[in-house]
Amino acid sequence: MQTQFLSADEQSLQLGAELIKAGQVVGFPTETVYGLGADALNSEAVHAIFAAKCRPADNPLIVHIAEWNEIEPLCHVNEMARRLADAFWPGPLTMILPRKDIIPDVVTAGLDSVAIRMPSHPIARQLISLSGCPIAAPSANRSGRPSPTTAAHVLEDMDGRVPLILDGGPCSVGVESTVVSLTGDMAVVLRPGGVTPEMIAAVLGDCKIADSIMRPLKEGEAAPSPGMKHKHYAPRARMTLYEGEAQAVEKRICHEYDSTSAKEKPLILTCDAHIAAYGDRRCYSLGADAAAAARNLFAALRYADEESITRIYSESYSQSGVGLAVMNRMARAAGFDMVNV
Ligand code: AMP
Ligand code: MG
Repeated sequence: MQTQFLSADEQSLQLGAELIKAGQVVGFPTETVYGLGADALNSEAVHAIFAAKCRPADNPLIVHIAEWNEIEPLCHVNEMARRLADAFWPGPLTMILPRKDIIPDVVTAGLDSVAIRMPSHPIARQLISLSGCPIAAPSANRSGRPSPTTAAHVLEDMDGRVPLILDGGPCSVGVESTVVSLTGDMAVVLRPGGVTPEMIAAVLGDCKIADSIMRPLKEGEAAPSPGMKHKHYAPRARMTLYEGEAQAVEKRICHEYDSTSAKEKPLILTCDAHIAAYGDRRCYSLGADAAAAARNLFAALRYADEESITRIYSESYSQSGVGLAVMNRMARAAGFDMVNV
């Protein structure tokens, strides 16, 4: 299959909408990460997403809508959902709600709930509106690769596998959406993202965080969200996260870097404020703060693979605000290899 790579404009958006109506799969930008979209109500089209990504069939997709009235046919809306939508939609928040029958089983991996999001990115919204259907879309990476935060990342993973990729520039959030389950009495954050647990609690009064966000699942433990049981965001390099007081972490990372075997190619993940401490050691700065790290982390992991890095020593972030989302992705990339200095 020939992949068209087009800057997103009126004409290419029309083409994208025609392809989606025809049951094809299109790569497109959202504010979180790039998505691989198809008509959510067409099960064959949704199967084509799984095939393009090599995604395991038991990992359900998020259904994207552009307007509030589009949610009604898809799921049973409750008061918590209304309040969160008022506060955070359009935006990087996905809500898990009891599904209605119109949703094909392939979208939800057979679950009785469905994940719904209204993205804020103007191109995503136009694509949904022009297509005239809700768009099921996971991140536009091949399974096991970091999520794409630029259209070039999508092309790396999807060239020849989808007919069209729409380029809308780099994503402003950079990590996948917050996933919050609203099927019980209390909201539970299953995956941290740009809308933080603190922000959700401020609207609803309270919210739980699934405790497996920052640790591996135990043998036989049920995953609160299907995505959690899969290995995610893993660079080829072995990665270790160092937590603790900044200077102690720098000193420890320098020591580990300097004692790395000559057969390895090491890289330090740091931030603008600390990079000077590592002298001429190979470094990648994730930027000024946790929000910048959210935008830059997946590009850093792709860089590490491109440069054939075999060992990554990484600084950590405070697990508050968007830092929790960054640490969740870093911990997974590191296979939960975390050291307290
Ligand atoms: P991705 O589109 O790659 O960001 O992945 C979407 C994630 O949303 C999946 O990995 C699931 O963990 C989560 N998800 C989607 N639908 C549901 C659902 N019905 N219940 C719980 N989690 C879900
Ligand atoms: Mg994904």
